[in-house]
Order: sequence, then C-alpha cells, then structure tokens
Amino acid sequence: MDVSLTAVYAKFPSRGDCVRYLESLRWADGPRCPHCNSERQTPLVSESRYHCNGCNTNYSVTAKTVFKGTRVDLQKWFLMIAYMINRKRGPSARKLAVIIKVNKNTACYMAMRVRHELPKDINFFLTIADEVTK
Ligand SMILES: [Zn+2]
Repeated sequence: MDVSLTAVYAKFPSRGDCVRYLESLRWADGPRCPHCNSERQTPLVSESRYHCNGCNTNYSVTAKTVFKGTRVDLQKWFLMIAYMINRKRGPSARKLAVIIKVNKNTACYMAMRVRHELPKDINFFLTIADEVTK
C-alpha cells in the first residue's frame, strides 16, 4: 500500500468532509443518539453535532467510536486505519508516525485505539480503509 497523507487530504479536504463521510457510514438512516438511541434530534450545524431531544445531550458522529475525543485530524486517522488494515504486520509506530505526521506517542496511542476498537465493528474499519486506498 502506498497512499500519502496528501492524497487523503485531497479526498477529504476538510473535517466536515470526513464527518459527512462517517455520517453516511454510521447513520445511513439519519442521525441516531449514541446514548439513548433516539432519532429525534436538532442539528447544531456549525459544530457538526446534534442535540438529542430524547436525552438532552449533544453528540457527534465520532461519539463512541475510535475517533472519540481526538484532536488529531480525522484524515490522519483514516490513513492510520488503512495502513493497519492493509498489512499483516503493520508498520512500526515510528514509521506510522512519519507517514501520518504525528509524534511517536500519538501514533502509538492511535494504533492502540484502532486495535482495541477493530473487533467491535470490523466492517466500519474495512470500509474506511477501502475508501482511502481506492
Ligand atoms: Zn439521546
């Protein structure tokens, strides 16, 4: 696999593009609250978030996913996932850090999160990896 970070940013220029893509994956039938499963929500458009009218919390598509609470660009996560999915023995954290342009500790943390979350919804990760590498 040989996908550059630049190519991922070309495909997903903004965070909004990443969010809309994740929403299409997770919420094919429209947003659904990750806390109470309600489909009644008010969009908070400027923040790419939703206010749940069922349980009165705010949420975004990254809630309860591998991307939860991250400050790292989603494009970098997408590429990290693609590399981790496409190699039997993934590149070392040091190599991934260089490819994804984060520091080594961040790369280690991201790899740990991906490994932890992967078994919960493998199709989610496979789809993202496919999208990034096609
Ligand atoms: Zn709710």
